[in-house]
This record gives sequence, C-alpha cells and structure tokens, in this order.
Amino acid sequence: MLGQLGGEARALAGGQSLIPLMKLRFANPAHLVDLNFIKDTSYIRAEGDVVCFGPMTRHAEIENSDVVMRVPIVHDCAAGIADVQVRNRGTIGGSVAEADPSGDWATTLLTLDTEVRCVSPRGERTLPLQNFITDAYTTVLAPDELVSEIRVKVPSKNSGGCYLAFKRCAPVYASAAVAVQLSMDDGHCRDAAIYLGCVGLTPVRATAAEAELRGQPLSPDKIAKAVDAARAAADPQPDMRGSADYKRSLVVGLLKRAIDVASRRARGERVEVSHIYA
Ligand SMILES: Cc1cc2nc3c(=O)[nH]c(=O)nc-3n(C[C@H](O)[C@H](O)[C@H](O)COP(=O)(O)OP(=O)(O)OC[C@H]3O[C@@H](n4cnc5c(N)ncnc54)[C@H](O)[C@@H]3O)c2cc1C
Repeated sequence: MLGQLGGEARALAGGQSLIPLMKLRFANPAHLVDLNFIKDTSYIRAEGDVVCFGPMTRHAEIENSDVVMRVPIVHDCAAGIADVQVRNRGTIGGSVAEADPSGDWATTLLTLDTEVRCVSPRGERTLPLQNFITDAYTTVLAPDELVSEIRVKVPSKNSGGCYLAFKRCAPVYASAAVAVQLSMDDGHCRDAAIYLGCVGLTPVRATAAEAELRGQPLSPDKIAKAVDAARAAADPQPDMRGSADYKRSLVVGLLKRAIDVASRRARGERVEVSHIYA
C-alpha cells in the first residue's frame, strides 16, 4: 500500500510520535497506512543467542517480558519510556524508524549488537543499527520500506549493561541519557560500549571514554577519566530541558552510576535501576 500510495503516505504504528506531529502540523501525510492490522508483527522471541522483536511490539510488552531479562539494559530502556499510556501504545519499530534524537531506544540498542531487518516490495535487507540511523529523524528507509524486525544479540556471560536517563517528569523525553555495556574479566574491563543520548543529533558514541576503560582494572581513577572523556564527547543543544553545560553535568552523574551498575551486573549481581526524575 505504501508503494501504491506514493511518498505522501506514512505508516502508522503506535501513533505516539506521528499523531502529536500531525496535531502540531509538522507532519501532514495524505494517507495513513495502519500497521496495527498486520498479523504476527508483535512478538518477542529468542532465536539461539538473538532476541527478536516484532516491529509492533509495544514498549510495555518489552518491559514485562521474561525473555528480555536476559538483556537487562533493554528492560531498563523499555520500563523508563514516558508513562504507562505511552508504553502501552508506542512500539519499538516506530521508535527506531522515527530516529528521534531524544528517543531512548537507539542509544540503548547501539551498545549491543543490534540489527534492523527491513522489508519493501524489492525484498528484505538487514542492516546494523549503526548504519540504519543516518541523522536526526533520518534513516536509510525508503518511503515504501518498513522495519520488519529488530534483532539483538544477547551479550556474552560476564557482560553487563545499564541505561539511565534524567527526566524532568515521567511523560517527557530525557534531558540526557547514557547507555553502557561492559564485558568484565577478573576485575578488568575486557570491552566497553558507551553511548550518550539527547546530547547530539544522533546518539553519541563516547569512543575516548570506552578506550579509557578497555583492558584496564575498573578503578576510580580510570572511571573518572572515562567520565571526563564522555563529558567532552557530549555536544548538547541548550533548550527548555536545560543549558548545554547542565546537560554535560548530567552525563557525568549518569555515567558514573551506569558504569557501577553495569559492572555489578557483569559480575552476576541482580541490580534494579530506574531513571532519575527531577
Ligand atoms: C507524551 C509522550 C512522551 C514520550 N516520551 C518518550 C520517551 O521518554 N522516550 C522515548 O523513547 N519515546 C518517547 N515517546 C515516543 C514513543 O516512544 C513512541 O512510541 C515512539 O517514538 C514511536 O513509536 P510509535 O509506535 O508510536 O510510532 P508512530 O508514531 O506510529 O510512528 C513514528 C514514525 O515511524 C514510522 N513507522 C512506524 N512504524 C514503522 C515501521 N515498522 N517501519 C517503518 N516506519 C515506521 C511512522 O511512519 C512515523 O514516521 C513519547 C511520546 C509521547 C506522546
């Protein structure tokens, strides 16, 4: 139908981004193609060491899934998105396709080995998430192409992650967010993936911060250096959520906490977290 209706048609998933944009007249599609009528597009299933999400899987279903407990950072993300009403309607496929710089999913999923499967009249293709989002609100999707599955590799044993955001209140986007995935080996950090959310046009990979931790014992000194490097990597815009400096300070506080939680989870500890609300 998207192919038949042409570029003026838009897919409608949970409507939690598209409908507000239409109300504000920022989006004015001539046609809406409602994905809610397509069968078997909402699921969470394990395929070996990959957790597969149907595009229409709601944030709330992910929050409450036992399968997702294998990847705690994914639970952190789903459970903290907005409020219950938004989580009951909004979908993981819609979020990834929207590529909102303030959205929670991309920042989280980029710390993992995540692939996006897409389908169009020309067939299927599967891309790493890194290659799927190209800019703020921009992906490689063609107008007649849909996200058909999100595939997340379960991190190896001794790996732990954490996603934390600072929000002014529940039903708003984060002011700043961090996602950390650490692989530990006898007190040493074998590998680290660190992404910062809401402080750039797309999630910012804090590569210098990762390098400070990789191959090192997780000492207070190393953590402080990593946090400094992450602060320098953040490139926030001042807006109603705070000044650029304020957001950089949020990154510092969030990252310290997230590294602590991720390393404890990597050791097998069960740690529950929730976002920080003003
Ligand atoms: C009050 C409020 C607060 C919110 N707070 C947060 C928050 O804190 N964190 C957060 O991450 N999000 C937040 N959101 C957004 C929410 O998570 C949305 O669910 C999400 O951004 C979009 O998902 P959706 O299913 O609603 O997509 P829709 O709004 O239906 O669609 C969004 C876009 O994606 C396209 N699309 C949808 N599905 C597909 C698909 N399968 N393939 C290709 N294109 C597709 C649509 O055409 C549209 O362009 C908030 C929303 C509201 C209303």
